[in-house]
Amino acid sequence: RYTIETDISLKYIFLKLSIISLIQNETPIMPWNELDAFWMPFTSNREFKSAPRMLTSAQGMHFTSDDGRKILDGTAGLWCVNAGHGREEIAKAAYDQLKELDFASAFQMGHPRPFQLAERLIQHTPEGLDHVFFTNSGSESVETALKIAVAYHRLNGNGSKTKFIGREKGYHGTNLGGISVGGLGSNRKDFNCLIPGVDHLQHTWIKGSEFTKGQPAKGAELADELESLIALHSADNIAAVIVEPVVGAGGVFIPPQGYLERLREITRQHDILLIFDEVITGFGRIGKPFAANRFQVTPDLLTTAKGLTNGAIPMGAVFAHNKIHQAFMNGPESSIELFHGYTYSGHPVASAVALATLDIYQHEGLFEQALALEHCWQEGLHSLSDLKAVKDIRNIGLIGAVELHPGDQPGQRGKQVFLDCYWQQNTLVRGIGDTLALSPPLIINEQQIHQLVEALRTAISKIPT
Ligand code: PLP
Repeated sequence: RYTIETDISLKYIFLKLSIISLIQNETPIMPWNELDAFWMPFTSNREFKSAPRMLTSAQGMHFTSDDGRKILDGTAGLWCVNAGHGREEIAKAAYDQLKELDFASAFQMGHPRPFQLAERLIQHTPEGLDHVFFTNSGSESVETALKIAVAYHRLNGNGSKTKFIGREKGYHGTNLGGISVGGLGSNRKDFNCLIPGVDHLQHTWIKGSEFTKGQPAKGAELADELESLIALHSADNIAAVIVEPVVGAGGVFIPPQGYLERLREITRQHDILLIFDEVITGFGRIGKPFAANRFQVTPDLLTTAKGLTNGAIPMGAVFAHNKIHQAFMNGPESSIELFHGYTYSGHPVASAVALATLDIYQHEGLFEQALALEHCWQEGLHSLSDLKAVKDIRNIGLIGAVELHPGDQPGQRGKQVFLDCYWQQNTLVRGIGDTLALSPPLIINEQQIHQLVEALRTAISKIPT
């Protein structure tokens, strides 16, 4: 007789058998031709599923695809695997932590790892950024920073300071705050419920700066537009300015010399907080722990994620300046200072993985290595300037962009080259509109840089001019 109980026990047996077969590496439960259920993020789902690009394992600088090819990773996964793939130390740290303490909440309870991690992290941040709020992603870090900015002003008796200034081409994740301060129309257009009171600075690319190596010499004055926006909205109403020190997902744009310094000066004059979104530029991407260190400009809040755990497990962080943290610590001792947090804020396993990642960065000197490779990287990328299809090349640290002249349908060239690189050159690059964005793991060597550049050369040469 069929009962609810038999149904439950049958399901239980099926689940158990499935798990056993997975562990024993038998026939996969999900064959590759069953791809419909997973709604993929930021992907042309139907197109992808007609010719899937499936990565099945990774080690060091390479992925392996399901058809057995070794693919050179020119993207550090998605700007995150800075120490390279398949790090034993990270796997061990996760495993050991899972056995010791898999989860404990950080709401009203403590466990050692996030405390240890925060202490370690602040040794790398510019002076004053001495407090860390943990999140699970870059998007959550951005929302957290925006909320802290508003609450900080309110605590200081400036409750009207609630507006934000972002920047064109800025990418600050995909939550509502992030797309509101972000400057990418495609990410905003379908969501007509953005947070109010946001304005944007213009982006920092100026005509004439094509093929600049490193920071463009001209363009610091673009920051003065902030004065006009302040005049328009009034400093009394503005909580913070948020920018990526180096724009990543918007197409890789390097700040002109003096630009970030000028933003800092103006925000300070008007008691407006400056937020650096360093989700990409954190953890050695431009040869220092953070872009703030490299450009010697200290923001009030700094958001990060990605390289924090080498991409191995989700985790993000917001660094807050002492003056901000202190403003929250003034009320009665028994009060909760910030009504904000996530179930997994300071997750023990993520924290253990981040600690292991920091060990690798430090022991292998990967930030210094990125700086030492910058010249080779720069010259390699700029050697592509002889190709007719190339419109501009930009670089700093181990980040770079090769922008192509648009074809009849603007915005398609990047994808064309990305697909050719993947299928024909066994190389992973990222296509953003007509631009190829590049950000290899920091363990890359000179020969692999050369290989990456040659793969690009071959693929770009196929573009009709
Ligand atoms: N901020 C910046 C500058 C980013 O580049 C990204 C992701 O690429 C984010 C925020 C969002 O991070 P996540 O995808 O982890 O939410």
